[in-house]
Amino acid sequence: MKQKETSLNIPHEDELDFDHVRSSDETPLREDAFELDDEIKMELISKHFKEIMQILGLDLTDDSLRGTPDRVAKMYVKEVFSGLDPKNKPHVRFFENKYNYDQMLVEKDITFYSHCEHHFVPIYGKAHVAYFPNGKVIGLSKINRIVQYYAKRPQVQERMTIQIANELKQSLHTEDVAVVLDATHMCVSSRGVNDTNSQTGTAHFSGKFKEQTFKNEFLNYINSNTK
Ligand SMILES: [Zn+2]
Repeated sequence: MKQKETSLNIPHEDELDFDHVRSSDETPLREDAFELDDEIKMELISKHFKEIMQILGLDLTDDSLRGTPDRVAKMYVKEVFSGLDPKNKPHVRFFENKYNYDQMLVEKDITFYSHCEHHFVPIYGKAHVAYFPNGKVIGLSKINRIVQYYAKRPQVQERMTIQIANELKQSLHTEDVAVVLDATHMCVSSRGVNDTNSQTGTAHFSGKFKEQTFKNEFLNYINSNTK
């Protein structure tokens, strides 16, 4: 008897539960990503990094190298990849938009340091963000913190751009958001093709910023030298 073919039973689009489908703009994390606490993670990373150093032939009894596995472990968990953990997500406080300011708000030249998820070496650069305030505004330092939170993950620049934009849209209750990232990828500048001067630009424009006038106003502003 022929079995009913169910394995290729692709549900119609509206039947899909999108909450359980990982969209491409989410960092690929496992379900059990935060079952181990930070202390255990650091212990395990230290142990494994020590092995990598040993395989490379380094003498771990050397004074200068002895503490490196622990330092790397702490740096990964507490610093450069701390943005993987939702508990480190910045709390966004709102202010009433008292003055009914309805013009473009721009925060430019936000320095960020991230890591390329393909080589685990730094990506660093500047983020430029703009939005049109809806009912609420947030402190400018919060925009900076949102950028840092998404930077502190193994990243690809395109995804980081979208993650920042989506977070701002949600927090600010508006679609009128623009994000531009200009970055240097150490995996390109220090190895591989050794192109020390190349910069990679990514952008996300939504809402009003899809209109050429607002897009240009924003781009002109970030390209001007006003500080
Ligand atoms: Zn890379």
